[in-house]
Order: sequence, then C-alpha cells, then structure tokens
Amino acid sequence: MNQAAGVAVVSVMPPSRGRLTAAASLAPLVWFKCGGKAEWLFEPADEEDLRDFLRDLDPAMPVMGLGLGSNLIVRDGGVAGVVVRLGKPFARVTTDGLRLRAGGGASGILVSSTARDAGIGGLEFLRSIPGTVGGFVRMNGGAYGRETSDVLVSATVVLRSGERLDLMADELRYSYRHSELPPGAIVVAADFSGNVADPAAIQREMDRIAAEREASQPLRSRTGGSTFKNPPGEKAWALIDRAGCRGLRRGDAQVSEKHCNFLLNLGDATSTEIEALGEEVRARVAAETGVRLEWEIQRIGSAA
Ligand SMILES: Cc1cc2nc3c(=O)[nH]c(=O)nc-3n(C[C@H](O)[C@H](O)[C@H](O)COP(=O)(O)OP(=O)(O)OC[C@H]3O[C@@H](n4cnc5c(N)ncnc54)[C@H](O)[C@@H]3O)c2cc1C
Repeated sequence: MNQAAGVAVVSVMPPSRGRLTAAASLAPLVWFKCGGKAEWLFEPADEEDLRDFLRDLDPAMPVMGLGLGSNLIVRDGGVAGVVVRLGKPFARVTTDGLRLRAGGGASGILVSSTARDAGIGGLEFLRSIPGTVGGFVRMNGGAYGRETSDVLVSATVVLRSGERLDLMADELRYSYRHSELPPGAIVVAADFSGNVADPAAIQREMDRIAAEREASQPLRSRTGGSTFKNPPGEKAWALIDRAGCRGLRRGDAQVSEKHCNFLLNLGDATSTEIEALGEEVRARVAAETGVRLEWEIQRIGSAA
C-alpha cells in the first residue's frame, strides 16, 4: 500500500506489499518523542518485499534501519531518503537446542524470555536493553558485562542493493558499541547461541537485572539511553558529574538527576536543544577533565 499522494510521487518509488508513507513523523517512533520527519517510512510486509523494494529503489536514495528508537536523536529538519522499520513479520523468535533465531524487529524482552523458556542461558542481559535485534546487532548493545558480540553467531542482512547476505559475527568487526554493518544494510534476523541453564535461574537473573535498572536509570522517561560511550578506564557518568552537569538544563532538555549519562526530554524539548545540551556537556567535561566524550547515541538527519 503506497500512501503517498500524487501519481508523480508514486511512480518514483517501487511498488510494495508493505506500508510506504511519505513525510512520516518519526517523533512518535523514538524514545525522545521529538524530531523531524522521514522523507519516506517503509514498513515491509516481509523479507522478500524488503529485498524487491531495495533492489528497485533509486540507488541515490539513502536507506537506514529504525528499531524502537531507543538510541536515536532525530534532528528537527528530518531524515532524507527511506527509513525502514521492521514490524510484526520480523518479530518472530524460535529456538533449536542452544541456538536461538530472532527476527530483526524482535525486542530484547522477547528474545531473553524465549531463551529462558528453552533453558538457554547467557542472553539474560538483553532483558534490560529496550531495543530490537536490529539495533543490538548494529550497536553491539551490552549490559552487565556482556555484549551482543559475545552471543551473536551470525546476522542475516538485506543490503542496500536488495541482496540477502549472512554475515558471521566476526565479519561485523565488533568493538565497544560499534559494528561495521555495511551502510544502508537492514538486519532482518540474527542467530544467537547460549549455554544450558535452568529456566528458574535465568528468571532470577532477569529479575535481578530489571531491579538494578529500575533503581539506577530513568526508565519511564523520554530519553535515548546512555548518551556517551564510556572512555577507556572511565565512566562517562562520573566525568559528567565531576564537571557539574547533573541536572543541567537547556529548555526542556535536561541531564538526568538519576543517571547523568542520560539526557531527558522533560516535555517539549526539540532535538536541537537535546543535541546542544549534549555538546555543552562534552565541552564542560573536556574543560574540567581533559576527556573528549564520544557520542553513543546515533544522531540522524539534518538540523531544522
Ligand atoms: C532506558 C534505556 C536504557 C538503555 N540501556 C542500554 C544498555 O544497557 N546497553 C546498551 O547497549 N544500550 C542501551 N540503551 C540504548 C539502546 O537501547 C540500544 O542501543 C539498542 O541496541 C538500540 O536498539 P533499537 O532497536 O531501539 O535501535 P534504534 O535506536 O532504533 O537505532 C539505533 C541504531 O541501530 C540502527 N538499526 C536499528 N534497527 C536496525 C536494523 N533492523 N537494521 C539495521 N540497522 C538498524 C539504526 O539505524 C541506528 O543506527 C538504552 C536505551 C534506553 C532508552
């Protein structure tokens, strides 16, 4: 279904069985709840639909994946090209022995609870990261001493050209919160492996992680998770605290009082204000400690 109005517009975009929306507001789809529009938002019906669409799409049109928007600032001027969002057809999770296969749109909670039910240990940490498998594979999401690259066997991607490819974990050249996923590639599924574990013990670990999160992070806020990467041997939150930035505000954008590596939208903050607050934190930390913090949050699109 193509929701764009006008024959001229429809004719430049390939046909699809999914949902294609022109000038789609991304704010409702990201945790910060602000930011501009996607030139096009594409929600494919299935993998074949995605492959055909990307194959036939004008090669000049940029493409990016969107998960739950839990690590994103969408700039107020919006995002050029096509933003691909994977819905229910990509949210299935199945197990086979100690292997687990999850669609690129499956949530961390679904992956970890399916692993628990199958007695597969080692994936508990995904319980606490509020993103999708696509986001974990791209970002090397991690918590409590583990990260995606520790448990990922391979990822199935659809390249910008529409070609399908299985990439082994080592081909993604992982480092801390970083992968070398090819530009424009969409992660449609991933295989994980774990160890034999008792479902009750897995549940206890998931409960422990959830309680620890609740105590230390602003989980019900408009936020983007950890704003900056931890520099080697340092904690970003401690440097931010030392630089006196806890609670710092710019409009409705604020450095969280509860966890000062989190930025918050208190209500009507724009993405411009949130990003500018982040830059102010970086400048203050550099002046106070000499450390240049590196953004972990992905900032996409153009300024208003
Ligand atoms: C309260 C809170 C707590 C958090 N705690 C943690 C934590 O403990 N550890 C941690 O690592 N992160 C944490 N995060 C950040 C975030 O959840 C992770 O980075 C997560 O991996 C992002 O997943 P997502 O699906 O929401 O991706 P998005 O935020 O939508 O996108 C992030 C990046 O992944 C890309 N992407 C998303 N889906 C796909 C896909 N299918 N194919 C290709 N590229 C894709 C996007 O293009 C973008 O570059 C937290 C965030 C919040 C809000």
